Amino acid sequence: MALMELHDVDMEFESGKGKGTIGAVVNANMVIEAGEIVAVIGESGSGKTTLGKVMVGVHKPTRGKILFEGKDVESLKGNEFKQYRLGVQMVHQDSYAALNPNKTIYHSLSVPLFHHKLVKGHKEAVGVLEDNLREVGLTPPEHFLEKYPHQLSGGQRQRILLARALSMKPKLIVADEPVSMVDVSLRISLLDLMTRMNERHGISFVYITHDLGTARYIASHGRIVVMYLGRQIETGQIQRTIENPKHPYTQALISAVPEADPDRRSDFAHTLPLKSLDMPSLLSLPQGCKFNPRCPYADGVCETEEPKLLPYVDESGGACGEVSCHHAKEIAKGLKTGG
Ligand code: SF4
Repeated sequence: MALMELHDVDMEFESGKGKGTIGAVVNANMVIEAGEIVAVIGESGSGKTTLGKVMVGVHKPTRGKILFEGKDVESLKGNEFKQYRLGVQMVHQDSYAALNPNKTIYHSLSVPLFHHKLVKGHKEAVGVLEDNLREVGLTPPEHFLEKYPHQLSGGQRQRILLARALSMKPKLIVADEPVSMVDVSLRISLLDLMTRMNERHGISFVYITHDLGTARYIASHGRIVVMYLGRQIETGQIQRTIENPKHPYTQALISAVPEADPDRRSDFAHTLPLKSLDMPSLLSLPQGCKFNPRCPYADGVCETEEPKLLPYVDESGGACGEVSCHHAKEIAKGLKTGG
């Protein structure tokens, strides 16, 4: 049984001024297995953060179904609902905003422990929190419990958020751009920490990012989901997808990653000039494939019919993830050239 499943999930918001709704997430289908790391990648406005918030229950989907350990989240009550809320934790990008600036770290971390009745008193809370702070590399832990958020670095605050998530004994952590506001020199150590939490405790991670480099690092044996304007446009095993992307947008993302070593430079570098650098507004989406105004391969069918996310089977008959593009096969064979 999968840890979490999303079936045909839509998340819409009112656009304001009576102009109808915006589809922030459209027809999301996803399976997250226990102990798996899945990287969700996309530009700002791709719907990746909204998707994460739907998973943790911050947003109730407009349509569709979310299963946690095989049970429909919407129907969970009592202890089963509590298990879901504790079992799926979110770590936010802005660690300063996620912690109360007027309270000590002990206060911020102990409130959820008491709220969910996971500890009986102050002494037990201190013991649990010290163990978790040690686990995330903040030692000596008693030194950090008395601090206020502004007395810590961005990297230390991000570790505090991971410790807070850990104290709920989660099965899944949705980490939303957890290293993007941290000094570049500290990013690898935070990614390594999350990998350790995955290996030691079997915690699944959904790693949300716009940065293909960190996605590749943390999910090196996991999967990638590429999003564009609320839609999943390519999924697959991450190394294979990066080495051989099928969707023109994934190819463009990969070609945009700077690579100092010419031997490691992607085949797609400099080969995919997009027709436009601007992402269309969610308020006025193009007809057909949402990537067509930017796609160098777009033709008539792309402008009228939205492609579905379908399994991609290569020449040898092997399944290679899923892709949402009318012409993925022709593009892969070099039979379709950019206009
Ligand atoms: Fe480009 Fe057409 Fe494929 Fe969309 S469906 S990515 S416009 S080729």
